[in-house]
Amino acid sequence: MSTPTLPTADSDSHSKTPPSTDGKASFAETALKMGGKSEDEARRTGAIDKADDQVETLFAPRYQTTNSPVHLAVWQRGLPVDLFASKAPATPPDVQRVMDDSIEVVTRHRQDGTLLDTAGKISYPVLAGLGAAGYWGLLVDKAYGGSGAPFASFAPFLTRMAMVDPTVAGLASVHGCIGAVDPVRTFGNTEQRQRFLPRLASGERLSAFALTEPCAGSDLTALRTEARLEGDEYVVNGEKLFITNVVPGRTIGLVCLIERKPAVLIVDLPAEENEQFQLTKYGLYALKHTHNRGIVLRDFRVPAANLLVPPRGDGLTIAYHGLNLGRIALCANAAGVMRVMLASMIPWAKFRKTYGSVIANRELVRRRLGRLAGLIVSADALVQWCSGLIDQGYRGEMECIVAKVFGSEAQKEAAIELFMKTHGGRAFLHGHLFGDNVHEYLAPCIYEGEGEMLSMAFFKSLVKQHGVQFFEPIGKALQDAGIRKPNLMNPAHFWALKSALIPYARWLVAQKLRPAARPELPPMPEPLRGHAQFAAERLQRISIEISETMSKHQLALADRQCRMSELSQRVQDLVVMLATSLYAGSHGDEVVRQAADCICQDLTQKQLGRRPSDRYFRSITRLGEAIADGGFHSIAGLHPDEILMPYKNG
Ligand SMILES: Cc1cc2nc3c(=O)[nH]c(=O)nc-3n(C[C@H](O)[C@H](O)[C@H](O)COP(=O)(O)OP(=O)(O)OC[C@H]3O[C@@H](n4cnc5c(N)ncnc54)[C@H](O)[C@@H]3O)c2cc1C
Repeated sequence: MSTPTLPTADSDSHSKTPPSTDGKASFAETALKMGGKSEDEARRTGAIDKADDQVETLFAPRYQTTNSPVHLAVWQRGLPVDLFASKAPATPPDVQRVMDDSIEVVTRHRQDGTLLDTAGKISYPVLAGLGAAGYWGLLVDKAYGGSGAPFASFAPFLTRMAMVDPTVAGLASVHGCIGAVDPVRTFGNTEQRQRFLPRLASGERLSAFALTEPCAGSDLTALRTEARLEGDEYVVNGEKLFITNVVPGRTIGLVCLIERKPAVLIVDLPAEENEQFQLTKYGLYALKHTHNRGIVLRDFRVPAANLLVPPRGDGLTIAYHGLNLGRIALCANAAGVMRVMLASMIPWAKFRKTYGSVIANRELVRRRLGRLAGLIVSADALVQWCSGLIDQGYRGEMECIVAKVFGSEAQKEAAIELFMKTHGGRAFLHGHLFGDNVHEYLAPCIYEGEGEMLSMAFFKSLVKQHGVQFFEPIGKALQDAGIRKPNLMNPAHFWALKSALIPYARWLVAQKLRPAARPELPPMPEPLRGHAQFAAERLQRISIEISETMSKHQLALADRQCRMSELSQRVQDLVVMLATSLYAGSHGDEVVRQAADCICQDLTQKQLGRRPSDRYFRSITRLGEAIADGGFHSIAGLHPDEILMPYKNG
């Protein structure tokens, strides 16, 4: 298994980890306090920031956030192009067999009409058939009965599975990334791995991830579920909400508080509900083909040996680790779902005649086909790039956020702007893919972190080190001198801040004087080379704008959410552009390269605030025409639904 194994509670390295940051206020906490926020808000935000610091210490320095591709691209002189390039994974033959067999199981059940049970959920025979094929053990090491798939093979496989059934693809991520598999294989001790992993690998126990509570979704510091140690058991009380794939008999990763700190207990749920364990049922539009329930635990007993003890940090450390993988998986799923939409648009566009011509001949419709292909290629590029980074050992937090935000927003745009509009009124008929699945298409914008909240988290990760290096000393100097509103024209203020300001002034001058970056790009065709060059240069220049924004808003920056989100999105778009152009630049398929060119043109216009050129409209509509004629090869195996309410075309 190439996914790196972190030191665990019973490993040697436990005692060699660096000293704890517990007790010391984090940068965010200090900044918020100095900015006048309440003790409570500063402490809560500080707790999240500290959990994040502790995740960092689990990774070797070269794989930490400050050495991640995105961080280096913005802050380091000279963009590391090779860290944005990715290669198609080499999937071991035994893993490939598991994947092919799993696709075969789902395809067969789909054809036989047995994919869903009478309640409309993925049926037990499908889950069992997938277990026999080895699907649930893909991410589990061979030593524990799995096949130890590299993550770079697993993630694009989910795109393939999503083309057959997106719910089944989603369940692999719920089980393997955010559910119990990743926490146990990454943070479990040997005994816990031996006890849990074989049953998780075989599918005897499927898993779920229980973090959200009625009072705690975006704000994880508001968690209330509590576990109290009594003898050799924890007694758990609390309530969870929106938990995907939870039914009696599953094994869940339960995030709860132990001695007021977040912790993760691996919990084997009883085979039936009882006094201590109940599921709350409600109507939920999204994820309708799987179970999503609330969990109520009252004096529920869990063996103390089921507590996962990360070498550093707490339960949030464990949760964040799995969520990173889940975010790539979500993008991979979107790449599959968008292919299904594209495959469904083409026959309809070729059938539907208006004003004497099929709509596939119209520019507006061709533009939609071209744009959708661009979204798919970018999603593929992000999946290949991010999953490769995970296998290399990177934490990849910022990169995974880019994939999650892009994948979910692309799927939303594809569904509404491209798919729904092209199908017209029929999109709302019962039995139409859009009408039947609209909530499925939108929900990824919310679960595993709402997009704009994640974009702010991305921004905070991006600026953290710069803030600690240059702005924290300035803030402390202001605090020591009792200055609330600094004015550098005031000699007393200037004097108090002098020594803290000099390093920042030096950095700023050096940045401004530095010549435009000329990153060394691999051989790649124009215009993709131009897009990669543009993105790389802008990523290198944006550090000045970010720093000036920090300088302008100072301690109030935490409240300038709209600016943080806007800047974050611009950096993310440049990252998408760079990853897409490099991916397509090494791709052999001309239509894939054209689709990448079109989406990069879109992103360039967005960056520059420019109107689309005629050249752009020509290229995207030509691309749409090629796609309508069968030019987008990766949708070739898809069989779109029949056209609803067909009629005789005159
Ligand atoms: C279909 C589905 C499946 C899910 N599956 C799971 C699962 O398996 N396990 C699990 O644990 N959870 C699951 N969830 C829960 C999901 O992760 C949460 O819904 C999500 O994290 C958002 O939390 P919330 O709904 O409580 O939003 P809230 O916390 O109520 O926030 C609502 C919105 O307010 C805004 N907001 C909140 N705080 C701030 C702030 N400080 N500044 C600015 N804006 C803010 C954001 O836009 C946010 O989206 C699922 C949810 C859905 C819909």
